[in-house]
Amino acid sequence: MSKFIYLDNAATTKAAPEVVEAMLPYFTEDYGNPSSVYEFAGKSREAVTKSRETIADALGAQANEIYFTAGGSEADNWALKATAEAYESKGKHIITTKIEHHAILHTAEYLEKKGYEVTYLDVDENGVVKLEELKKSIRPDTILISIMFANNEIGTIQPVKEIGEIAHANGILFHTDAVQAFGQIPIKVDEFHIDMLSASGHKLNGPKGIGFLYIRKGVKIRSFVHGGAQERKRRAGTENVPGIVGLGKAVERAMTSMGKRTAHEIEVRDYLIEKVLGEIPYTRLNGHRTNRLPNNINFSFQFIEGESLLIMLDMEGICGSSGSACTSGSLDPSHVLLAIGLPHEIAHGSLRLTLSEEITKEDMDYVADAIKRIVERLRSMSPLYEDFMKKHRK
Ligand SMILES: *Cc1c(COP(=O)(O)O)cnc(C)c1O
Repeated sequence: MSKFIYLDNAATTKAAPEVVEAMLPYFTEDYGNPSSVYEFAGKSREAVTKSRETIADALGAQANEIYFTAGGSEADNWALKATAEAYESKGKHIITTKIEHHAILHTAEYLEKKGYEVTYLDVDENGVVKLEELKKSIRPDTILISIMFANNEIGTIQPVKEIGEIAHANGILFHTDAVQAFGQIPIKVDEFHIDMLSASGHKLNGPKGIGFLYIRKGVKIRSFVHGGAQERKRRAGTENVPGIVGLGKAVERAMTSMGKRTAHEIEVRDYLIEKVLGEIPYTRLNGHRTNRLPNNINFSFQFIEGESLLIMLDMEGICGSSGSACTSGSLDPSHVLLAIGLPHEIAHGSLRLTLSEEITKEDMDYVADAIKRIVERLRSMSPLYEDFMKKHRK
């Protein structure tokens, strides 16, 4: 009986059985193209409409403000590139942060090459944007503020409502990458003064390759994909009907289960945090202790390499991550951990564990024990640790 404990739910999640079940008929039975006129296609059309309404309801938005995309990255690209283009007569300055997902950061860098100016805001030691700095960075030619709702590596939740208020007080559009937050935190677009919001199916027990961009009515935004008249002529291409149905089901499921699920995750999360910090010396928790996503844990263990830790955890059936899925595989330390002020060598020894509702405290006992043994073993092989201990004993 080999163990398997999946703790990488910020990278992707398992599609819920009811999500898959809801999708299946739209591959094999009701496979009509929603744009066709005959009655048979009406079923696909209705399914797309229903999913759009479910998502709009969850956000307190209108159904015609939800635009389906092929995931979170596309929604982020769209929000930045199309806003930049549509508002360039007003100005070419965009504000974002140093801890965004690469779907935002690399798009911002692309826009810089196209002649836009981007301010990348610093964050404090917990990863929170400083509102005073945000205010100071606003210029008459600022057209967009794009700040993530919650961070995918360290789980920190931003003061989104205050950011939205600042944006709107200055007549600036506000976009938020809510890929990690949507489904974990209640979000209402009016309450938080959000003009655009990105989300993705596979981060909330839905299918991969489907997501959406919420675009507030009245926001000028250009088409992202040119072609047919789908998505109110703004994103052409035959709708991914099964994906859209799965996303709708996943959202419905996430909204109904949110309170109970996140309460459980917080309890299990805090259990592991206390255990690891209590039992393993020279360890820190990255991100805010409480103001973090219910399912996110991020540790740094001094004197070890995160990659070695991951490989050894894998041998014990535990799936974790050293940062975001996009940076793992490269030797650069996480841009997020550097932005919160960690020195390179400590950022290198980090471990992200992101839970699902299925994880129990018993699982965490096993995980804590494995981490403890592995960290001790790796440290026993580390010359840095040996030096440090010698100095310390004096
Ligand atoms: C996963 C993720 C994305 C990208 O979403 P995809 O659907 O995988 O393209 C964007 N932003 C954040 C914060 C994410 O965690």
